[in-house]
Amino acid sequence: MSDEIKELKKQLLSTKKNGYDQLSDRERDAMSVYCAGYMTFLNVGKTERLCAAESIRLAEEKGYRPYVRGMELCAGDKLYVCNRGKAVMLAHIGKKSLAEGVQIAAAHIDSPRLDLKPNPLYEDGELAYFKTHYYGGLRKYQWVTIPLELRGVVALKNGGNVMVNIGAEEGDPRLVITDLLPHLGMEQSKKPLGEAISGETLNLLLGSRPIGDEDDTGRVKLAVMQLLHEKYHITEDDFVSAELEAVPAIKSCDIGLDRSMIGAYGHDDRVCGYAALKALLDLEQTPTKTAVCVLADKEEIGSDGVTGMQSAAFDTFMEDLCDAQDVPLRVCLEKSFCLSADVTAAYDPDYAEVFEKRNAAYLNYGIGLCKYTGARGKSGASDADAETVAYIRRLFDDAGVIWQIAELGKVDAGGGGTVAMYMANRNITTLDAGVPVLSMHAPFETVAKLDCYETYKGMKAVYQSER
Ligand code: MN
Ligand code: MN
Repeated sequence: MSDEIKELKKQLLSTKKNGYDQLSDRERDAMSVYCAGYMTFLNVGKTERLCAAESIRLAEEKGYRPYVRGMELCAGDKLYVCNRGKAVMLAHIGKKSLAEGVQIAAAHIDSPRLDLKPNPLYEDGELAYFKTHYYGGLRKYQWVTIPLELRGVVALKNGGNVMVNIGAEEGDPRLVITDLLPHLGMEQSKKPLGEAISGETLNLLLGSRPIGDEDDTGRVKLAVMQLLHEKYHITEDDFVSAELEAVPAIKSCDIGLDRSMIGAYGHDDRVCGYAALKALLDLEQTPTKTAVCVLADKEEIGSDGVTGMQSAAFDTFMEDLCDAQDVPLRVCLEKSFCLSADVTAAYDPDYAEVFEKRNAAYLNYGIGLCKYTGARGKSGASDADAETVAYIRRLFDDAGVIWQIAELGKVDAGGGGTVAMYMANRNITTLDAGVPVLSMHAPFETVAKLDCYETYKGMKAVYQSER
């Protein structure tokens, strides 16, 4: 190739680079420290409630305090509101008025899991079980024959709350969902993958040891209830007002001989939730515009409900902040920007057929921007305008953030969506972005450390933007 052509290529054609060809040694160290903190967050935050509690704990350590309606607000103030224990909104009040808009990063902290039904406990074949109803889009066959733990709360009639934790501590017993042995699985094996394991077979094995005399019935179930009563002082009726979630009893760990990746339950979307939170807490100076972090619940089932991104809880929070500065909410929102941070599918060479390789997100290529998500001709997407993408390109390049732009899979191969459209529907300029994930929604998902760290840097740039 002549020098002239080389030069022309360099000038005119796009060159995508692996993030490791751009990362400095100093940044590699910072990335390791950041990822260690994230891995701890994952181990503590196995449910949305636990994530919310841990986020608040970390925020309070950095001087954030609960917002009380009517409070006076000054530049530099750090406050948060917890929505019913399951979602958190935080703000670092900026130097400019809220009339100039705010810089938002929104992610979700709920993850796919198995919830207990309201009447969960039963005995069959002298074994005790909990019935479950899966939460979010999960592939049922992945949830059998893995160790599970049970986390959540039982709300008592007298107003008390009992925290349940079975299986998280070293030496704890675990729960499991059984599967058929291959020797007898001939018929099951002929079924399509999505039908081989039915929702009603996702039953958690709880115990096998009976109490009482051999002519008594339901002895194993009673024995399990007795153990639960001893530990938590609950009775069978109390399951009615409980939120108990079976989640993988697996801790986060390094993946790969080079330790370049993280395997864990719940990367979707705690990987962006933690980045959004940590970037806010790490702001060294009062931001120009007010920085807002939203950690939402219920994204995996459509963002509906009082703790989801469609809830008026967010508008109420923003309106309260605006009231303190005598700014109409609509004036603030129309000038605001939101980075809707959620994971995207990482290109997987083993399943290359579902990706369009020129527009896929790759591990180690940084935070993935998505101009639009959706399915079947961009339906259900907040298709960000070109100017918004240009703004983020400029912002990320100026801040040295490694980023890529991608679509989730081939056209018509499937699709997905997240909270972006609910922010955009509020008249907030919004762009989707997030960490590429391998085996998304599986009990054990994989991400690249580099992408986690670049997402954190991206969030920080958004908060610090003077736009
Ligand atoms: Mn998600
Ligand atoms: Mn998801």
